[in-house]
Amino acid sequence: MSFDSLGLSADLLRAVSEQGYTEPTPIQSQAIPIILQGKDVMGGAQTGTGKTAGFTLPLLQRLNSNQVSHGKRPVRALVLTPTRELAAQVGASVETYGRHLSLRSTVIFGGVKINPQKEKLRHGVDILVATPGRLLDHVSQKTLDLSQIEILVLDEADRMLDMGFIHDIRKVLALLPKNGERQNLLFSATFSNEIKQLADRLLNQPELIEVAHRNTTAERISQVVHPVDKGRKRELLSHIIGSQNWQQVLVFTRTKHGANRLAQQLNRDGLSAAAIHGNKSQGARTRALAGFKSGEMRVLVATDIAARGLDIDQLPHVVNFELPNVPEDYVHRIGRTGRAGNEGEAVSLVCVDELKLLRDIERLLKREIPKVTLDGYQPDPSIKAEPIQNGRNNKGRSQPRGNGNGHNRNRTSNKRSTDGRHEAKSDRPEQKRSSDKPAHKQAQRKTNGSQPKTQAWRQRSAQGRQRASLLGGGTRD
Ligand code: AMP
Repeated sequence: MSFDSLGLSADLLRAVSEQGYTEPTPIQSQAIPIILQGKDVMGGAQTGTGKTAGFTLPLLQRLNSNQVSHGKRPVRALVLTPTRELAAQVGASVETYGRHLSLRSTVIFGGVKINPQKEKLRHGVDILVATPGRLLDHVSQKTLDLSQIEILVLDEADRMLDMGFIHDIRKVLALLPKNGERQNLLFSATFSNEIKQLADRLLNQPELIEVAHRNTTAERISQVVHPVDKGRKRELLSHIIGSQNWQQVLVFTRTKHGANRLAQQLNRDGLSAAAIHGNKSQGARTRALAGFKSGEMRVLVATDIAARGLDIDQLPHVVNFELPNVPEDYVHRIGRTGRAGNEGEAVSLVCVDELKLLRDIERLLKREIPKVTLDGYQPDPSIKAEPIQNGRNNKGRSQPRGNGNGHNRNRTSNKRSTDGRHEAKSDRPEQKRSSDKPAHKQAQRKTNGSQPKTQAWRQRSAQGRQRASLLGGGTRD
């Protein structure tokens, strides 16, 4: 199938071909014609499937065919995302695909100065990409009017709920034109009951589009567990990266503090590494990501929330330095590798404390992950399991995921971040809205590379649709 058959205008087809895309991905070929018809959509797809273009292209076309000719432009399309990174990426896509149209767009999120955002809104924008907290700040300061929204997109809705945004989402919905007078598109990697409830409220006779299968891991990701004592994980990680000459590896830790500490230790071991998590300034996160993408830095150490939504293509190696408390996050994490039809490798370093978490993950995957003990790193059998610090390892879904009012339930002290939201400052699992964390600099938008990616997609379609994404079971960064 080619893009020409989807009903897109010449200006959009031109932008698509300038990106080097020749074939739509499965989510694009399914979603674009339906969205062009004005129907509501419930899309099961995660980052990496091409879903952003899947909703952005028809959204641009619909707005463009119905331009407002006089007066200040009202915001007519709203894309809500859980994180700043995802907002910046979606905003960059809107600009890229809409470059031959005269529509205006902007991105707003917390942690950066609000005044430049007000200025942009004052001049009028057609498309707004936003995280919920800052969006509501603008509404309360009367710098934003959402009463003329024609199209609403909830991107990565599952992660928005995980991050405690449900109340904010409800508030935003109350500010929009009545349901029935707008088009609603909801994308989610998972379809939990909470997502279904939200979809029931939000969507009118939606078309269901799914390119993902629930809780199944990508076929081409090889997974292995290396049993090892907790105190020797760092040493083993450096050994594996060095001896196997890995040049680009994404490492997951459970906590922000753990991510910082590990990145420092790896640097001391001579492996260039940076940490990315919600307490880092936006500038630091953008720099770390850019360094990692360009190959300048070999190791990026990330927490689950920070990694959500990162568009890093074709990542060869993902390491779980610590298993996640929530089994679905394992699937999200390893989905960072083996993307776009490439082989990927996911390695988990598992100590005795984490065996329960490992069992929960294997239960979710409905398969055992092969265990390979590496010479010289056999676990000491005299070490007994201890409760996992900062986690509650006696429950499958042990990590508190927000209590629905956006406040963190951690027992550590919370401080008020610069835009007035609660922020955990602890060694606890990161679970808050990274979109609302303090930052000092405006995010640099991702510039879409122009190298052709069609080969990978062709391979992918040949592999079948499931390959296009991991699971319906779960990712969000
Ligand atoms: P997304 O799932 O929207 O985050 O997209 C993942 C990556 O796929 C991005 O880097 C896009 O630029 C790229 N992409 C999206 N659509 C296509 C396409 N039809 N052909 C090749 N690459 C694409």
